[in-house]
Amino acid sequence: MQHFPIFLDLARAHVVIGGGGETALAKLRLLLKTQANITVCAAHIEPEIKALAPRVTLVNRPVLACDLGGARLVYAATGDAGEDARIARLGHDAGALVNVVDNLDASDFITPAIVDRDPVVVAIGTEGAAPVLARKIKAQLENTLPASLGPLARIGKAFRKMADALPQGARRRAFWAAYYNEAGPRAYAQGGEHSVSQALDKLLAQHLVQPAPQGHVDFVSAGPGDPELMTLKARKLLDRADVVIHDRLVTPEILELARREALIISVGKQGFGPSTPQPDIHDLMIEHAGQGAHVVRLKGGDASVFGRLDEETEALDSAGITWQVVPGVTSASSAAASIGQSLTSRGRNRSLRLVTAHDMKGYADQDWAGLAAPGAVTAIYMGKRAARFVQGRLLMHGAAPDTPVALVENASRPDQQIVSATLASLPQMAAQLEGPAVILLGLAPRQVHQTLSLQELAQ
Ligand code: SAH
Repeated sequence: MQHFPIFLDLARAHVVIGGGGETALAKLRLLLKTQANITVCAAHIEPEIKALAPRVTLVNRPVLACDLGGARLVYAATGDAGEDARIARLGHDAGALVNVVDNLDASDFITPAIVDRDPVVVAIGTEGAAPVLARKIKAQLENTLPASLGPLARIGKAFRKMADALPQGARRRAFWAAYYNEAGPRAYAQGGEHSVSQALDKLLAQHLVQPAPQGHVDFVSAGPGDPELMTLKARKLLDRADVVIHDRLVTPEILELARREALIISVGKQGFGPSTPQPDIHDLMIEHAGQGAHVVRLKGGDASVFGRLDEETEALDSAGITWQVVPGVTSASSAAASIGQSLTSRGRNRSLRLVTAHDMKGYADQDWAGLAAPGAVTAIYMGKRAARFVQGRLLMHGAAPDTPVALVENASRPDQQIVSATLASLPQMAAQLEGPAVILLGLAPRQVHQTLSLQELAQ
């Protein structure tokens, strides 16, 4: 992000626009929404701008240094590169932030596209890369944000002191959510601003007598990494959580979806590496939910696949804390999709095994004969380091060395890698991978799907 979005207080600030034509007018239309003291300087000023006096101060000559004393913002909008550069220099000398219209490199700031539901204002920027896209997003938001949003936010703001009667945190948030989601829009539709004020009084009275909310834990499946592979339910819960306790496998893109005020706690667990002891994770959940917080325990893939879910739900049961599980896409499904294969197939495999190559005691034992049977399909989780062990056991139980194997690393993520191997080459192939990978035993990537050979991997 090159340009950092901020909302600048322009009340009574001095803003100067150099230029009196169409470009200057476009900026003026936006600036007139503020309470800035605006001055337009230009040898020629279009009648439409002239008509804005006295709200806008008009100076009928090019910008001079004396116009810029104390200026906060200066727009160089003459359309003449040389003249704009001169104005920009004067602006900088005066210590102002300068925007040279249509010249990103020469500008200190850019003016975003705006959706105005004052006091709710949405600013859309594309770093100057795609103004057309910004306009498209603007049009979509204009359609989705109801006109009542502005008045509702204004009335809500005036009511904030009253709402402070509710304890800070979940209860106060629940009150505001009920206002903005239901009571406010309903009252506005029925009787305009007056009804909204009455509805707020009533709503507060209701919320003041409500008992404190109970804490609760949602075990939410984050999917393999691509935020679009999350369920709608997962996204909604993440958007509401007070506390998010997540595994290492959850990607930053997904954590971005949490409420900004949410407390985000990483309890990173790495196959053989450092990890947060399981009892500490239980304590964290119980502590926060015990204080009335809505906790989302966010787990990579599907929460119920190799995620120690039962231990966590049992701990909550003992502590008398309610919970639910939100299912999701496990990495084996995502990996199979990425190689264009079906996890089960009539005539090939009617069953599918999800196995882990190691458990807490070390390499995990399996029904090796079943795994080695012709046509069997097995998704091996946490299998990279155990690849040689798995290979040895399978060969010992009669598996063919040319059994197809697909390794999918970072499934669904931008850095996804698909590696085509056989049982014979599995350990060498697995050794090349660094990220989380699922080994699909018995499946080969379809031709159309990009795969890497051992040589390419080594590069
Ligand atoms: N609950 C998770 C699995 C947790 S165990 C799920 O349903 O996917 C951790 C293992 O999952 C990793 O060692 C790796 O084998 C696999 N895994 C998780 N995310 C992955 C991803 N994006 N791509 C490939 N494998 C992944």
